[in-house]
Amino acid sequence: MNYDKNNIFAKILRGEIPCTKVFENEYSLAFKDISPQAKIHILVIPKGAYTDIDDFYTKASEKEIISFSNAVKEVLKLTGVSQQSGGNGFRAIANTGSDGIQEVPHFHLHILGGENLGLRGLRKS
Ligand code: 5GP
Repeated sequence: MNYDKNNIFAKILRGEIPCTKVFENEYSLAFKDISPQAKIHILVIPKGAYTDIDDFYTKASEKEIISFSNAVKEVLKLTGVSQQSGGNGFRAIANTGSDGIQEVPHFHLHILGGENLGLRGLRKS
């Protein structure tokens, strides 16, 4: 799938539309989901143009992959969901492609938590 430069997260990365930033490092950005499905709902994205998790792990550089992993780790700590920091856990989801019902074609990892999630995020109504 070709990368669509006009997808909403590309616009956020270019500063064309605002977001509520939670964390940023050289190659990654984390911000609040505009339509949260849980008390905590953060999206972590690479700054590079990758359509989905498969595209990212196939094409991204080692630096980008390490940066992304660090961003995820920081978000888990900052939001308090990290069990290593005394939190109660979370759900991490990367909807991918048409079977995964991915809506925004720029790789993003959903971090959901802050409450018991039940099946939230595992099925769309
Ligand atoms: P997907 O279904 O592609 O995995 O999830 C896309 C997510 O992006 C949805 O949870 C949706 O609420 C979120 N989203 C869509 N547009 C915007 C936006 O303009 N800003 C933010 N912060 N989140 C968005």
